Amino acid sequence: MIVAANFKTNLTRYQTREYLSRLEAFIHDNNISQEVFIFPTATSIYSHAGKVNIGIQNAYPTKNGAFTGEIGTDQLDEFEIRTVLIGHSERRHVLGETQEFIANKYQFYKEHGYKIIYCIGEPLEVRKSGTSEMMSYLDSQLVGIDMHYENLILAYEPVWAIGTGVTPTNEDIVSLHSALRRTCTASILYGGSVKADNAKEILSLKNVDGILVGSGALDVDDFCSMINDAENIKLNKEINR
Ligand code: PEP
Repeated sequence: MIVAANFKTNLTRYQTREYLSRLEAFIHDNNISQEVFIFPTATSIYSHAGKVNIGIQNAYPTKNGAFTGEIGTDQLDEFEIRTVLIGHSERRHVLGETQEFIANKYQFYKEHGYKIIYCIGEPLEVRKSGTSEMMSYLDSQLVGIDMHYENLILAYEPVWAIGTGVTPTNEDIVSLHSALRRTCTASILYGGSVKADNAKEILSLKNVDGILVGSGALDVDDFCSMINDAENIKLNKEINR
């Protein structure tokens, strides 16, 4: 399973280093075999040789150049960062990224072989307008995206669940993930108000291959507890196979 933490604009470089060393110790001491990612702020990325994969929350589709405030592959290479988050709802709805721009970014990082966690999710008004509207909204977020890219990880994150403490019902998560499963062979993560106390239930659901966690992962002990849940669920699934 995949367990990923998006720090957003939280934690300093010093705090991230502390977090990472506690996380590595936990993974080592508990023989964790799950795939673990953290996405710190751009000022807190490291060249890191441990088990934890460090990804970047955002990067511009360029090697370098005149793009004030942005970073490109030259800067990522310096820290051996090979994973990028693309399409996050805050980039779409707060920072104004269009689907066309997101698709260009996806294409660029795909051509450079990066692992991409690609996020999609509908706002509340779309969810309220019915299943077919919701599915066509989600389809519109897949325009220009190669769903068969071998380094794609898909994350379904309903906008109304992000940072609100509200999650879809288990049935809704399963039905959405099952619909997405028909479009690709990529691992599919659920994101949106996952916390230490609901991670186990969500990770157990059919067609949920992992979780992408925001505020619930800022405390490293909580994140470790979610990783532990993923480890136990994976073991149970293997035993019951
Ligand atoms: C996110 O922003 O990717 C996210 C899932 O946030 P939260 O867990 O805080 O809802």
